[in-house]
Parts: sequence; structure tokens; C-alpha cells
Amino acid sequence: MNRVLVLGGGQLGLMMAEAAARLGLVVDRYDPERAVLLPGTSDLAVPITWEECLERYPVITVEREAFPDTGLSAQLAASDRCVARGALATIPDRFDQKSMLDRLGIPTAPWRLLDRADDLAAAVADFGGVVVKARSGGYDGRGTWIVGEGGDLGAVPVDELAGRAIVEKKIPFRRELSIVGARALSGETLFYPLTRNWHVDGILRLSLAPANASAALQPHAENTLRRIMEELDFAGVMAVEFFEQDGELLVNEIAPRVHNSGHWTHEGADWSQFDLHVHALAGVPLHSLNVHGPTAMVNLIGTPFDQAWLQHPGVVHWYGKSVRPGRKVGHANLTASTLDTLREDLRAWADVLPKGFEKVLDSELDLDRG
Ligand code: ATP
Ligand code: MG
Repeated sequence: MNRVLVLGGGQLGLMMAEAAARLGLVVDRYDPERAVLLPGTSDLAVPITWEECLERYPVITVEREAFPDTGLSAQLAASDRCVARGALATIPDRFDQKSMLDRLGIPTAPWRLLDRADDLAAAVADFGGVVVKARSGGYDGRGTWIVGEGGDLGAVPVDELAGRAIVEKKIPFRRELSIVGARALSGETLFYPLTRNWHVDGILRLSLAPANASAALQPHAENTLRRIMEELDFAGVMAVEFFEQDGELLVNEIAPRVHNSGHWTHEGADWSQFDLHVHALAGVPLHSLNVHGPTAMVNLIGTPFDQAWLQHPGVVHWYGKSVRPGRKVGHANLTASTLDTLREDLRAWADVLPKGFEKVLDSELDLDRG
């Protein structure tokens, strides 16, 4: 029996467990908030020791980059069975992450360390618009302050952030794209097509795949992700977020795990990113991938479940979490045979889906034409 333990008790690990069952594999999760084991997709929570973990799980993976230290969580992350060990040493701190990208010669937004409070004014003088990012702990736009050219720096808690943040040039990007791919324990790799992403207030609202990217961008993105996975000696699924500017890709950030912008693969491809992640770790050969057609993924954010969503073509994934403002509680996927049909179906669905996402549709009526 191939068993994998996921560090993290959230929906990403839950969806790995769901996928694993399809090929008779077992994924259990360790929830570091409650310091308990969550078996498969069950809501049971049971105590577990380090010795029991060693006996039961030949492979340990993660569904997030940061977690509280329960003793056991630190042991699991540092274990040589943890396929994300190298990534966890580098990615969670944006300073280390950006330094690695610079060392590899991979283009990113120009940046510097926000060491002292007056470094911010100096960065603004050099960069114009800036984005201040906490070195660690940020997600969904939290820990990120965007200040456009000539904008007010007053909202940035700069004294608090000195030494604990980086400051980047604000990139006037044309589009945001991401690539999701897998690397097996054997080193074999496999990639999905580039995905286009729309964020509102720093949080992903809509993804569309495959992105209408020029022929050169896909191999470039694959090569970038492959080099990062090799550098970190990583196995499993990893994602890279890019800004596209003047036909070039700049890395925004790396996620050493399955990624929200890969959720479309549930319905849009014959193997989802969760399948691929588990197979890469359980020694199942990486399949060739077949994408079914243009697919949209809409995040369900801070909203209670609504039966009306199910009255439309499309598939809803619900995480069973308590609903809080700004919290991702599910996602909805829609696949069509053409972009025109997809746009039409999406417009109809937008009438009942949570508000916020229609802002994206209104401003990007042409979806991926432009
Ligand atoms: P995630 O939820 O993906 O982990 P995050 O909160 O860690 O997000 P980023 O991905 O770094 O933070 O930033 C969130 C969003 O803010 C980006 O997707 C992009 O829309 C915008 N953004 C970030 N950095 C820049 C930049 N240098 N220039 C322009 N926009 C930016
Ligand atoms: Mg991001």
C-alpha cells in the first residue's frame, strides 16, 4: 500500500486524498493547528506520534509553506522523507526565494530588502510604483501593500515592516499567468498549459486555461518551473505565478504545492493536479495529459453554499469549511468546447455566483482574446 502524509489540514490536502482514492492510494493529513491526524477525507481526528508516522508513511508532502511548530510538524518538514524539504528551506521567506531566482538568472520584478524604514522612499525614487511584501506569512494579498506611482505611502506600516519585508517594483503587467507542473521522485516532469489569472484585491477570482499564450511562452514557463524543481530537489506538484510584460515572463512567486490556479484541472483535464501530485509521489508513472477544452475556474469566497449554483452547467467543489469574509470556501469549474460558449455559460452562471467575480468579467469581456 502506497501511503503519503500531507503536512497541513486544509482543502488542498483534502483534494489530494480524494484524488488518491481513485487509484487505490492513501493520503492522510496531519493538521498542525490541532496536532492530529486526519485520515483520508474523513472528519475523524486521531492522535499520532513520530514513530507511527515513520512506520506508516514512506513519503511526506505539504499543502502549505508555513505552519505552527508542534514539534511533530517540524520533524515531518525536516525529515528526509519530506519531498518539499528543500523548498521549505527557501520558499517561505521572500528574501530567500527572490535571492534563489536571482542566482538562477530567472527574471523577477526588480526588488530589494526593506531593511530600514527609509529604504522605502529610496525604492519609490528608483522604481516609481512599488509593492511591499512581508518576507513571510502573507497570502491572498495579506502582507502585501501596493502603492502606485505617486501614491500614498501612509498605509504601509513601514516601521513594523523594516527588516521583515521586501519592496518590489510595481509591474505594469499585461496579464497574470501561471504554470502548474509535477516532478516525480524519478525526476520525470509533466506540465499543464499556462493558465491566465485575474485577481481582485490580491485574491484570485478567476482562472482560465489554456491561456492564449504565444508559442514561445509555454516552453519557457516549463523550463523555468523545471529548473526551480530541480534546484530544490522537489517532488510533487509546484506552481509558478508570472507577470507577462512585453511578451516576456517575470516570476511573481513560487508555490511549492498544488495551487489555486490549477483547480481548473479537476474538470478541464483528464488528470487533475491532485492526481498528478499523488502519482508523482506514489511512483505511478506520470500520464500524458489531455485537456478537454477551454475551462474557467471561479473561486467561491466568503459565501454560504447556494443550491442555485447547481442549476447551471459546471461543477462545484465545496470544501466544507466555516464561511468567513475573504475565505476561500470552494471553487466552481466550467468547461466548454469553444471560448464563445464558455463566455456565454460563464455570464449566465455569474448571475448566481458570489459577487466580485463579475468585476473581472466586466473588465475582461474578451476573456483570453487580448
Ligand atoms: P497568493 O495568495 O498567491 O499567495 P500573495 O498574497 O502571496 O498571493 P502575491 O502573489 O505576491 O501575494 O501578490 C498578490 C497579487 O498582487 C498578485 O497576484 C498581483 O496581482 C499583485 N502584485 C504582486 N506583486 C506585484 C508587482 N510587483 N507588481 C504588480 N502587481 C503585483
Ligand atoms: Mg500569489
